[in-house]
Formats: sequence, structure tokens, C-alpha cells
Amino acid sequence: MRKFLLTLPVIALVSGCIDSPEPPRRKPSRTANRPARQPDANVRQCLSKLGGQQAVFTPVEDRHYGSACSTVGTVKLAALNTDNATVSLSGLGPVTCSMATPFAAWVRYGVDRAAQQILGSRVIKVETFGSYSCRNVAGTNRRSGHATANAIDVSGFVLGDGRRITVLDDWNGGTSAERRFLRVVHDSACKRFGTTLGPGYNAAHANHLHLEADGADFCR
Ligand SMILES: [Zn+2]
Repeated sequence: MRKFLLTLPVIALVSGCIDSPEPPRRKPSRTANRPARQPDANVRQCLSKLGGQQAVFTPVEDRHYGSACSTVGTVKLAALNTDNATVSLSGLGPVTCSMATPFAAWVRYGVDRAAQQILGSRVIKVETFGSYSCRNVAGTNRRSGHATANAIDVSGFVLGDGRRITVLDDWNGGTSAERRFLRVVHDSACKRFGTTLGPGYNAAHANHLHLEADGADFCR
């Protein structure tokens, strides 16, 4: 009983706030200020195309980070399906849907089939150094395709027979078949991405292939 009485003044104080001339401050709500929008028509069409490629993915909410960096129209790719198997992916953050669709096709028709034909084993994993990164093209003041998650850096491939082929070790140091495989996947990337850069371009690309869906025609 005593305890109950002690709580009464507290209730009075709280209810007193309702009549206070200054309204209680509300925490700004992100959802109230920026309701989750449906992706625009192009992105919706792209997401449906990506689903048709049997990619395993989840759409990511658009975000702007300032300094011309953003992840708009992106997805998180969990895995890709090839002819009759699944390829896992590592190191990959959000990537634009318009980058993810040629990437899915490249892994299936460029990489997996080349691995089977040249190395006699399918690809089970594509290793990457990531996609989104708020940065400039090295040595310039121009924003990289990574600043809008429109590029992927591919560093290596794991095969079903257990072999791991990396750009760093095997572009020049692998067996002749491994070197040929890496050059074939590089060349097939050139047909699918606006920009493809590999170890032949410069030292900054000695350990990965930079793939970017920018509509350019730049293959090195
Ligand atoms: Zn890159």
C-alpha cells in the first residue's frame, strides 16, 4: 500500500507534461521522414531479370553517404546458379543490380564453362575484394565505380576439385592451363562489362580483375 502511494506523485508529474506549453520532443523517425520507396521501374525490371538468372540475392535499401558515394539500386548477392550447380561468393558487399546481372552471366557462361573446358572442373566459389567502397580511381580525383557499388574486384576462383586459382599467384605463376583460364575469363569479361582491368593494365591490378558496368569500352 505504501509503495503504491509513493508512485502517485510520479504519475502526476508525467501527466502534467501533457499540458506543458512545450510539447515533448519526438525523436526524429527515419521511416517517417524517408519512407521506404519502391525501386524505380528500371531497377524493378533489373531485379526481375536477376531473379530469372536464378541468382540468390536480397535487394538493399538505397543509401547516400555524401561525397558522391551511394548504394542505389543495389542487391546483396548470396550465390549464383550455373548450369547445374551453385557458386558461392566471398567478400562481396552491395552491388548495383545492373552490375549484378552481367556478373551472374559472366560467372555462368564465362567462368564456369571455361573452368570445365580448360581445367576439367567446375567453379564452386568466386572470391572478391568487394564492390562498394567510397574512393577515387587510384591516382586521380575521379570517383571510382566502386563509390556507387557499380564495380566488383574479382581476386580468385575455387574449383570443385579443390584447386584455388588466384589472379595474384596464377596470372603469371600458374600452370599453362591456369594461365589460359585466367586470360579467357578476363577476355570474356571484356565482352560483358564496360570496363575490365587486369594485371596487364597496371600494378594496382596485379591481384584482381576490376569489372565495371559503366557502358565504356575499355578492356586491358
Ligand atoms: Zn576495382
